[in-house]
Amino acid sequence: MYIRKDNIILKTIRENKKHKKIYIPSKHAVTRWTNILNEEIFNNKIHPFKDIEIRRRHGCHAEHIGWESGPFVYGELSMNNWFWNKSEFIYTIAHEMIHQWQWMNFHKTNHGRTFMKWKDKLRKFDIPLGVEV
Ligand SMILES: [Zn+2]
Repeated sequence: MYIRKDNIILKTIRENKKHKKIYIPSKHAVTRWTNILNEEIFNNKIHPFKDIEIRRRHGCHAEHIGWESGPFVYGELSMNNWFWNKSEFIYTIAHEMIHQWQWMNFHKTNHGRTFMKWKDKLRKFDIPLGVEV
């Protein structure tokens, strides 16, 4: 599988990753990038987050919150209100989308085998996948 150099994800990450240019996310931007990553990387397999929250977070960039309510399963995303640059923002969304995928399919989230199985695919888009977010 080859990725074109003008692919929107690859292009945005390469343009932004070397710069310390504080990026302030909006809900709109989170939704937009969730849709782009879903289409380009995850084959539209990932359920949308039921809710997206942006607030000052301490100690991490984001958190996936999984819910089960009667017969329903869904996940919410909580994001920090700033990132060192736009690339960090995209890395974080990709990380949390994998947790969403884990939650919807396996009802648990972790950084184990089902998480790391996405690592090679993400690397093709210059997105590092680690435990830290
Ligand atoms: Zn994680």
